[in-house]
Amino acid sequence: MARPSLDMRTTVAGVEVSTAHWIGGRRVPSNRTFEDFSPIDGRHLANVSAGGAQEADAAVKAARQAFPAWAALGPVGRLPILKRFAERILARKEELAAVETADNGSLLSSQREGRVQRAAHNIAFFAEWAMRRHEPIESPTVINHVRYDPSGVAVLITPWNGPLMLTTWKIGPALAAGNTVVVKPPEWAPLSCSLMADIAHEAGLPAGVLNVVQGIGEEAGAALVEHPDIDRISFTGSTDTARLIGQAAARGITPVSFELGGKSPFVVFADADLDAAAKTIAGQYNNAGQVCLAGTRILAEQSVADDLLGRVGIQVEAAKVGDPRDPDTKIGPLIHPVAFGRVTRFVERALAEGAKPIWGAKKHPFGDLYFEPTLLTSVRQDMEVVQKEVFGPVLTWQTFSDEDELVAMANGTKYGLAAMVFTRSEERAWRISDRLTAGSLWVNCFFVRDLRAPFGGARNSGIGREGGDWSMDFYCDVKNVSILKGSLT
Ligand code: NAD
Repeated sequence: MARPSLDMRTTVAGVEVSTAHWIGGRRVPSNRTFEDFSPIDGRHLANVSAGGAQEADAAVKAARQAFPAWAALGPVGRLPILKRFAERILARKEELAAVETADNGSLLSSQREGRVQRAAHNIAFFAEWAMRRHEPIESPTVINHVRYDPSGVAVLITPWNGPLMLTTWKIGPALAAGNTVVVKPPEWAPLSCSLMADIAHEAGLPAGVLNVVQGIGEEAGAALVEHPDIDRISFTGSTDTARLIGQAAARGITPVSFELGGKSPFVVFADADLDAAAKTIAGQYNNAGQVCLAGTRILAEQSVADDLLGRVGIQVEAAKVGDPRDPDTKIGPLIHPVAFGRVTRFVERALAEGAKPIWGAKKHPFGDLYFEPTLLTSVRQDMEVVQKEVFGPVLTWQTFSDEDELVAMANGTKYGLAAMVFTRSEERAWRISDRLTAGSLWVNCFFVRDLRAPFGGARNSGIGREGGDWSMDFYCDVKNVSILKGSLT
């Protein structure tokens, strides 16, 4: 741990960002800090306050204190404040994009052209969605009125591969439903969430409604999920961390929402538009493959496998690896030296087990954290690289001859986050969709999201669903009020 910086603000990518926590409507520094580096070039960005039990407790208390008034506003009272919050996010798009890219190495173009807009939409969409009224359910003697009471204080924990987008995806429904929140941003990319707290404040969010506790997962995150006075835990991150959080949640009987890792199959049938499939497969290397949903297991029908491979190769060759701020770059750096080592060792073990590289499988010369887009063939279903999430630009290549073989391979891991299927046959698309285990299944496309639709993972990829009513159900104590017919005047 480094010594604390006396100045609680720092400038990153030309933007002033606080390095302190945001608790009860004010900046609170810790006397310990952790260092934050940019994966683009290893540059030191900031010493950020490292919270623990004390800061977690202060934030939960601030959220608890703010809860009754925020809940009492109701959806109508919260709507204009949350709309303003969304508008302010959009107004500061360039700053948020620049900070996020500096901090986590994601493509600046994708931040500018989609991710920041999605963050704003996450807030605005749920502010409107919370206004929906549910039809009463009429029984012979009573009328059932379903009420959505906010649950209280929600702890929201997110990973570094999309801090702003993934955190607002939780903040939006939690606040719209009337909860107050404590956010624990990822320690490898903590700064966009800090800027977001300033923006929420500017938009008029009352003190204590949104709190941010910075820190290391095992310290700040663990202290928050262990806190006895919280009502919900929503976590996006790795399956291993979810196991720990699940134990804390069990002790408190705290409802959890888990969005976890994946090892999604990308299936291409012989009748598919092979160019479209090839382009989409090459896109799985986006964000250097650090995307939970990425279709990292390519399953190609034997009769077109060589043709498809050639087309994918052309796409990948044209994908520039380099600085994520360069508009021509398609593949940027891995997030951290630890992640780089993990990806490298995954590939080394796969090669030792008999996998053959079709391309990549080594460091890219552009910089310390850059890894070449990699495709491995000669892999068996039981190999580690087929079974476990690498979270880097590493895809495997397998072929199938019939649908039963395909389904066995596609479903043959412990994950169930997503699946992609490319075919022109409607009958097959439905037949295969019914047989694959996945929370999200995209046919002839990838990563198209409508916030009304559910999102989440089966098996080890998660618990629960987010989106539309699924999010509102999670952040509310749903109550049924049955009134005897004719008993009220
Ligand atoms: P991680 O589990 O290491 O960390 C995620 C967050 O949890 C961080 O904020 C971290 O500080 C915190 N944390 C760590 N230990 C904790 C503890 N003991 N108690 C409380 N909090 C703790 O994951 P990561 O490496 O940051 O992210 C990558 C993983 O996230 C991948 O597995 C990826 O698939 C997954 N992910 C899933 C989705 C989804 O929607 N399903 C989206 C993005 C990423």
